Amino acid sequence: MAIIIALANQKGGVGKTTTAVNLGASIADLNQKVLLVDTDAQGNATSGVGIKKSTIEKDIYDVIVNEEPISEAILQTAHERLDIVPATIQLSGAEIELTPQMARETRLKDALEEVKDQYDYILIDCPPSLGLITINAFTACDSILIPVQSEYYALEGLSQLLNTVKLVQKHFNRDLAVEGVLLTMYDARTNLGKQVNAEVRKYFSDKVYKTIIPRNVRLSEAPSYGMPIMDYDNKSKGAIVYGELAKEVLAAHGE
Ligand code: ADP
Ligand code: MG
Repeated sequence: MAIIIALANQKGGVGKTTTAVNLGASIADLNQKVLLVDTDAQGNATSGVGIKKSTIEKDIYDVIVNEEPISEAILQTAHERLDIVPATIQLSGAEIELTPQMARETRLKDALEEVKDQYDYILIDCPPSLGLITINAFTACDSILIPVQSEYYALEGLSQLLNTVKLVQKHFNRDLAVEGVLLTMYDARTNLGKQVNAEVRKYFSDKVYKTIIPRNVRLSEAPSYGMPIMDYDNKSKGAIVYGELAKEVLAAHGE
C-alpha cells in the first residue's frame, strides 16, 4: 500500500514542485514505484516530467470534479517507475465548481483508493493556497512535506498552514502527520541562510530534514527540458541532494 505524501506550502515559489518532481524521481531510482499527482492548475509538475499538453486526455480535474477513475488519467513518464496524474489550466475553476457538491473534501482520497496498492509512494504537488484542492490533498495523504525557502519571512504563514492541518485532522483525517520540513534554495554563503536554518530548526526541531537543498541553477533549468534533475544532469549538486533526500525519506519509513 502506497505511502501518500502531500507537498504543501501556501506560499508560491518555495520549491514544492521542484521537490515533488525530483524527490519523486529519486525515490523511483531507489526501486520504488512512484505516482506523482499534480494538483496545481499551473501544471508545472506535469510539464516538468516531460508531459506535453496535447497528449493529455484526462487530468486531475476530471478525477476531482467529475469523479472519473484516476486510472484513466495516469500517464507514464520517460523516467522509469515514475507515473503522473497531470493537471491543466482546466483545474483553475475547480474550487468554485466543487463548492456546492457533495463529499467535496474526500474526492482525491476516494479516487486514490483505486490505485493505492499499485504504488510504493504517491506524492501530491499542492497549489499555492489552502483552498479546497489542498484540503483534498491533506485528506488523501498520510503526511505533509513542507518545503521552506531560505528567505526573509520563511516561517510566515506556517502557523496558518498548521491550523489547516489541525482542521483536517479534526474533520477528515485524524492521523494526518507532518512528514518533514525541507529547507530549499539555501545559500550557505549568506548569514540569512544560516539564520533561517536555525530558526526553522528551533520551530520544527527534529522534523527538519538533515538534507538541505541549495540554490542550484541546474535545478531551475531542468523543467524547461521536461526532465527530472538526474536525467538532465546526473552530476549536478541538485541531483545529488535530492538523491540524499530520497534516502532520508525512505529511511523514515523503515526502508
Ligand atoms: P512552488 O512549486 O513552491 O511554487 P517551484 O518548485 O516551482 O516552487 O520553484 C519556484 C522557482 O524556483 C522555479 O523556477 C524553480 O525552477 C526554482 N527553484 C526551485 N528550487 C530551486 C533550487 N534549489 N535552486 C534553484 N532554483 C530553484
Ligand atoms: Mg508549484
